[in-house]
Amino acid sequence: MTESVSRLSLRISRRLSQHAFKQNLRLQGSNGVVCFTFDDAPASACQTGARILEQAGARGTFYIAGGLTGHSEQGKPCHTEADLRRLLTAGHELGCHSFSHVRCDTLTAKALQDELDKNAAFLAQLGVDTRRLNFAYPFGAYAYQAKRIGRARFRSSRVTGGGLESGQVDLNALKTHRLYNVPVDTDSVETLISRAAQEQGWLIINTHDVEDTPSRYGISPARLEQVVAAALAAGCKLMTMNAAIDYWQQQEDAGTD
Ligand SMILES: [Zn+2]
Repeated sequence: MTESVSRLSLRISRRLSQHAFKQNLRLQGSNGVVCFTFDDAPASACQTGARILEQAGARGTFYIAGGLTGHSEQGKPCHTEADLRRLLTAGHELGCHSFSHVRCDTLTAKALQDELDKNAAFLAQLGVDTRRLNFAYPFGAYAYQAKRIGRARFRSSRVTGGGLESGQVDLNALKTHRLYNVPVDTDSVETLISRAAQEQGWLIINTHDVEDTPSRYGISPARLEQVVAAALAAGCKLMTMNAAIDYWQQQEDAGTD
């Protein structure tokens, strides 16, 4: 009973948050944009995933929970600090994913702020500019209070699922397409890439590990290469989250002159 009541209140809280604490941005660029993002950043994402993007002249965004650094997750090695430093040197972006990789919808405000402070300190000592941090909700678990706190701290916050963004976006609840070994989204990534190109939309792709036998939340190197090639062939710009937000904001500013 208690559990169902708390689940209901979470659902209401999430529903309310969809209309609150928004930061709208109009997408009116001349190109579609595709961002490749890696959550938790397993070692294979930092190495194989990053290399595949680099070979295409692109860079990605890696959402890091400092508490996972140097550890393993679901039997697979997570990134090390050396991996993260190499990513930064190569021009990739590190975003925030809480410190302990916890659900943010059930934490108290104080506990959530502590989590985010701790992760910001961790990223700052690696040289990340924490004034331009982007965030991804662990497990996609957002709610009213988490969105309020996130809005004050991050350039954007990404949820899990929802597909393509086009027209107007809420930077504080950005959708994503899950490029997973076991598909969970209805539309294929190829469909969304062509729509991004046609509608000058913004497709944020997320995955986890990148290896020949990926977890259900990861993808094989061959498949990632295919998707990167499809995005380029469609004429989309491949950008990090920060570069994409800069791009959309510049286009919006130019459009209102
Ligand atoms: Zn995660």
